[in-house]
Amino acid sequence: MRISAITNWAYGVTVVLTVLSGGAFILSADSANQERLAVEEHLAFEALAQDLALGAEERSDEARLYVMRGDERHLIAFHGRENEEHRREAAIKTLKARGASSAETAALEEVEQDAEALDRLEVAAITAYGNGEQSKAQQMLFGPEHERLQTDLLETVGRFRDLVNARTGNALNDARLRSDWFGLVAKTMLALTAALFLGVLYCVLRRRIAMPLAHMTGIVTRLAKQDYAVEVPLDQRRDEIGEMNEAIHIFRANGLERDRLDAERRLDQQTKDLILQMMHRLQACQTQTELADVVARFAPQIFPNLAGHLYVLNESRTLLSTIGSWLDPHQSAASFASSACWGLRRGRPHLSNRGQSDIACQHLNESNVTGLCVPLTAQGDTIGLLYFEERSDVVTDVETSRLYLELIAENIGLAVANLQLREKLTHLAVRDALTGLFNRRWLDESLNRHAREEAVNPLVCLMIDIDHFKRFNDEFGHDAGDVVMQYVAQIVIDMVGGAGTAYRFGGEEFTVLLPGMTEAAGFEFAEALRTKIATAPLSHRGRILGSVAVSIGVASAPAAGTVPTLLTRADAALLNAKAGGRNMTVSAAKLILGGLRD
Ligand code: GH3
Ligand code: MG
Ligand code: MG
Repeated sequence: MRISAITNWAYGVTVVLTVLSGGAFILSADSANQERLAVEEHLAFEALAQDLALGAEERSDEARLYVMRGDERHLIAFHGRENEEHRREAAIKTLKARGASSAETAALEEVEQDAEALDRLEVAAITAYGNGEQSKAQQMLFGPEHERLQTDLLETVGRFRDLVNARTGNALNDARLRSDWFGLVAKTMLALTAALFLGVLYCVLRRRIAMPLAHMTGIVTRLAKQDYAVEVPLDQRRDEIGEMNEAIHIFRANGLERDRLDAERRLDQQTKDLILQMMHRLQACQTQTELADVVARFAPQIFPNLAGHLYVLNESRTLLSTIGSWLDPHQSAASFASSACWGLRRGRPHLSNRGQSDIACQHLNESNVTGLCVPLTAQGDTIGLLYFEERSDVVTDVETSRLYLELIAENIGLAVANLQLREKLTHLAVRDALTGLFNRRWLDESLNRHAREEAVNPLVCLMIDIDHFKRFNDEFGHDAGDVVMQYVAQIVIDMVGGAGTAYRFGGEEFTVLLPGMTEAAGFEFAEALRTKIATAPLSHRGRILGSVAVSIGVASAPAAGTVPTLLTRADAALLNAKAGGRNMTVSAAKLILGGLRD
């Protein structure tokens, strides 16, 4: 019940009780009044009875004195009371009007009759006295008849008095009882009013307002400090406090929802920040290894519950190989045919195994783990695959992060494509198209680098020139000449391997840089190379081209000279070899020594 309803009800009941109490007091006072009236009435009746008894007695005395003494004054006094009868009648009327009972009226009438009978006897006695019959008159007034009439009158008056006394006693008793009862009712009403007032005061102020408010103040204070863990008790009361409680519930629910949204927004912002950081780093990657490292570091931070692989397609676009992994994915193979992935086949993200509702990719080992394959594309070309799987030890949903996963895949795809493009451009810029060897420009850069960084380390340079190469061109055409060039280049590549780097210097001339080698070792290497090239005769399109010979000049640094002079010195040695009859190796150091000797 609402507090206002309680107070209204209490007010109404208090008013009713007060009115009842007032009424009871009035009735109680009225009973006292009736008590007073009954007493007055009693006194009046008593006086009348007295009057009747005394009046009759006095008249009898005056009559007796007159017949005894013959004194006229007594006769006058006797007659002076003749109008006594009228007084009695008037008194009886008054009594009836005051509500005398029938018994009382009957008793009065009997008194009157007795008084009249006495009167008649006394008048007869006076008349007899007047006729000279004094003794008769005395006999009549002092005789037994007069005695009996007088006694009857007194008895009747006495009965009347008894009746009046009884009536007055009853009336007083009734009035007192009624007064007491109404007094009790009035007091009870007052007590009830007071109890109701105090009860309402206690109930409304203390139990319904003060205590809940004190409790709620604590709750609101904690809520104001954003402590939404505070328990708000359920209060079903339909009053202002109940409404306040409900408002606090709503406030807390809103706070919790706002907290949840804030946390979600923070997490979302954190995810976006991490994605942005990753994108910036992806832009700066120079190799796929670096790129894979960046992805493997950031992906688990962005999606802590998703393991994954980063795959790239090979050049023939048939095989996918992982270049980076995170959080130990174990459902997808490290390498698999591109046809085994539905994502790659369809060219769009594919979710495997979600509730067994879609077909699973064949590169997944088990069929009960959810995996998402997002193809990496750039400018319409598929270049790899970003794979995510839900970790079995945590509850997560790959689909909720799908938008971000696809955004990441798009950026990784672009970054990989950029790297591949860059590698291609670099390859084109530093490689020779015909032989696949590094070109002259790269040789210059390498020499500069050696000159800067490795001046103190030994470095051997071989300058190789194919002997009479022009003849191949002239006799068999340029194609055959190219084949010879490729043949020599391939042998150089095979022989150098990891020991150094081979370059196409220009035309049919090649350069080999061998770091960490002495000139003597370089010479030996050159001789082995020359021998190897010369061993196998060549053929092209069914025509025998014959064997290929090369002349090689060898120079070294820093023992025999500086790095910047390496090429010049090696070239001089090469020229010397040409001049010496070709198909031979000449060491620049020996040349110098020889020159010194000459
Ligand atoms: P030498 O023994 O003195 O070195 O004689 P040579 O014929 O090898 O030397 P020369 O400098 O007279 O001839 C080099 C020829 O190589 C000239 C040029 O047409 C040819 N040549 C240069 N580059 C290429 C190429 O890429 N392909 C082909 N087929 N021929 C090339
Ligand atoms: Mg040449
Ligand atoms: Mg030549």
